[in-house]
Amino acid sequence: MKQPNHPAWIEINIAQFKHNLAVLQQHIGPNTKLCIPVKANAYGHGLVEMARAAVDARVDYLAVSCSQEGVILRKAGINKLPIFVMGAIHIEQIPELIEHDLEFTIASHYKARLVANICKQLQKTVKVHLEVDTGMRRTGVRVATAPLVLDYMSQESCFIVKGVYSHLATSDVPQHPFSKQQIQEFIDFIKTSGLLNNPDIICHLSNSAGVACHPETHLDMVRPGLIAFGYFPRPDIPENLRSIKPCFSIKAKIAYFKSVPAGFGVSYSHTYITAKPTHILTIPIGYGDGLRRSLSNKGMILLNGKRYPMVGTICMDQVMVDIGSDSGYVGDIVTIVGHDNGQQISIEDLSQSCDTIPYEILCGFNDRLPRLYKYSL
Ligand SMILES: *Cc1c(COP(=O)(O)O)cnc(C)c1O
Repeated sequence: MKQPNHPAWIEINIAQFKHNLAVLQQHIGPNTKLCIPVKANAYGHGLVEMARAAVDARVDYLAVSCSQEGVILRKAGINKLPIFVMGAIHIEQIPELIEHDLEFTIASHYKARLVANICKQLQKTVKVHLEVDTGMRRTGVRVATAPLVLDYMSQESCFIVKGVYSHLATSDVPQHPFSKQQIQEFIDFIKTSGLLNNPDIICHLSNSAGVACHPETHLDMVRPGLIAFGYFPRPDIPENLRSIKPCFSIKAKIAYFKSVPAGFGVSYSHTYITAKPTHILTIPIGYGDGLRRSLSNKGMILLNGKRYPMVGTICMDQVMVDIGSDSGYVGDIVTIVGHDNGQQISIEDLSQSCDTIPYEILCGFNDRLPRLYKYSL
């Protein structure tokens, strides 16, 4: 694999990602479509490349959050699969949604009327999914009004209703009593409105946690994001999904080595003082790349299969590491996330240290870090 000139980079193992997708396809079976969310730069993995890999792996749908992400995918030549824009759209975006054949969410009667007016002016049709709010309380029509909106859309010839969906609010919490209630409410709704097993309408509800732990939510299509990238949203993941693994690692080349006497401060504000004479490495990655500053004096790196602490405050572009009496040579490669000789630093290690979730850590790594795609295991 060709290495980038930039001395810190992300490696993405596409073969592992495709394995994850194959495991999910096996898990949901042939009667449920697989929709892969690639929003937020594919959870930091790179929007276009991950979408291409998902197309190769024969997924059925791609999902993004906003129109802009869908347009990027279409302009990159991803034209065979439906792309579903999940977030709320704005009426100014309708021409580009139509031009690029992007499906989008209708989440209110009001928005449905606005869309219909614009479609009449443009003399175009749109492909939409009606979102029903069953408990997330983010977007979506109430279950009680959903039939009215469906009825309205069936009378307006501009609407091609592709799907009806909802989003789980508590599926990441094992045994949360609300999940059952929410799932039941959605299933009751699609049953009573004749949408269950209706071949023309895709009913979808599951995120990663639903796919893994609530098989009754699989319905016509599932939308697992996090788990497709190799992370588990909750600990009680069934055995058949356990070969799903991350495909994301971060490497950097040592930029500087120095010996520091005891009692010396390191980095801004001297939040770390050496306890004894030691060796300090400088690594060229910082919070300007997405390495969270709250990992200061908490994070670890791997060098030659050993763990060493990040010391002092993390700078915008660099971080220091105390390797004690060991040696490290300028140009040698360290691991910030990933495996090295049987040792591992995971995204979960970082998210726990930062008191957040893997999602936020992953999509925080920005494009200053080049992404290297590896296509074989
Ligand atoms: C982000 C998102 C998903 C994917 O969620 P994961 O927890 O990553 O599986 C599915 N559906 C909607 C509506 C989303 O916004």
